[in-house]
Amino acid sequence: MAEVISRKARRGVIHTPAAPSLEMRDVSVAYASGINNVTTARGGQDALAQVSCRVAVGERIAIVGPNGAGKSTLLKLIVGTLKPTQGEVNVYGQGPAGHICIAYVPQRNQIDWSFPVTVEDVVMMGRVGQIGLFRWPRRQDWAVVRHCLERVDATHLAHKQIGELSGGQQQRVFIARALAQEAELLLLDEPLAGLDVPSQEKIFHILDGLRPDGVTVLVATHDLNLAAERFDRVMLLNRRVIAFDRPEKVLTPEHLLAAYGGHTHVFAVDGETVVLTDTCCDAGE
Ligand code: ADP
Repeated sequence: MAEVISRKARRGVIHTPAAPSLEMRDVSVAYASGINNVTTARGGQDALAQVSCRVAVGERIAIVGPNGAGKSTLLKLIVGTLKPTQGEVNVYGQGPAGHICIAYVPQRNQIDWSFPVTVEDVVMMGRVGQIGLFRWPRRQDWAVVRHCLERVDATHLAHKQIGELSGGQQQRVFIARALAQEAELLLLDEPLAGLDVPSQEKIFHILDGLRPDGVTVLVATHDLNLAAERFDRVMLLNRRVIAFDRPEKVLTPEHLLAAYGGHTHVFAVDGETVVLTDTCCDAGE
């Protein structure tokens, strides 16, 4: 990628040298009732309370927890579409606003797939921060788009309408858009939901390829097995951070009971502890 994408001419917020990718200090959020994506300091139940964490450059983090635990809220705080009611969020040492290094891929059901754009248009949208608003893409930008589609094995899809793709292909195209953006912090909300195992493997293969570039990846997921096997650290949430550490330290019966409550079943098979978690249920239930 280095020969196609140069980081010299970057726009956006200047990063503080040696700062972590992400740092949250004592962050709480409550939504204003009835207004979408607006937070309030007055009243309202906290969607997230007193979250503090630090994520190093290049880490791959899974964010897990029951429905309503605050996973999507956490990602929206990092990308800056939500403001914390209390506390501070820093990305590479600076507040989230104005960063073009943050790429956010929302849940698939949040995207209007009938929007009449082709795959290559979607990926080119990732270049807007680099090109600048109201400027035309140059030949070099199209070269970047082609290169990013190649990296996610989607060259053959370039001229398709985005709505014609399978779920796995759609995820790969949105990751290609993040690559075209030259994202250094990639936030994916439930990218694996509904994908079959080969499609999930393709996504992980792409994410593995981002490691040498030092891209930090945060993935909200329901899948505790994938969280255990494929991530450096796991953040277990239920409106607050229950645990944030290496998978084997986080995914313990005690922590899972604390997060999933009555929806967790712990039993022993051949001397091994087995934990069954019903991830369908709301955090508050
Ligand atoms: P998760 O992603 O873990 O399922 P969310 O971050 O979507 O959890 O939700 C956390 C809490 O915030 C839930 O109680 C949810 O109902 C509430 N919530 C999420 N989005 C909004 C919103 N736009 N307005 C009001 N409440 C919201």
